[in-house]
Amino acid sequence: MNGGDIMDVRNCKSCGKVFNYIGGQPLCPQCLKAMDDKFDDVKKYVYDHPGCGIQEVSEAMEVSVATIRRWLKEERLAFSEQSDIALNCENCGKRILTGRFCKECKNAMAHNLGNMYQTKVEEPKYERKKIENKMRFLEN
Ligand SMILES: [Zn+2]
Ligand SMILES: [Zn+2]
Repeated sequence: MNGGDIMDVRNCKSCGKVFNYIGGQPLCPQCLKAMDDKFDDVKKYVYDHPGCGIQEVSEAMEVSVATIRRWLKEERLAFSEQSDIALNCENCGKRILTGRFCKECKNAMAHNLGNMYQTKVEEPKYERKKIENKMRFLEN
């Protein structure tokens, strides 16, 4: 049996070349490298042009709008306040500059998560106390 020698090979999503598929990355190493270089260029462009929008960057850098949006959602890239980008919080719809949620919603989510955890833990304790008190009352 040669089972161990079987490699997972795929076609690169960008250039179509066959490459060794590792860790769910759909691009071949060359395209991945090119994409990283592109990212650095885009980041620099956004930094040098504070008022630019996604469309402008896309055209100037020859990167798809979808790719730029993905970088924004991953919080790798952030546009400036002066930019006219239309990126909205997925929860409240407020205009944001990077990521998926605004600061307030992020905080609220972290807070709610903490509260949910606390109620779950606290409630049974409270109930038990009430019962104990009642029992004590009956005993007296
Ligand atoms: Zn490729
Ligand atoms: Zn929000």
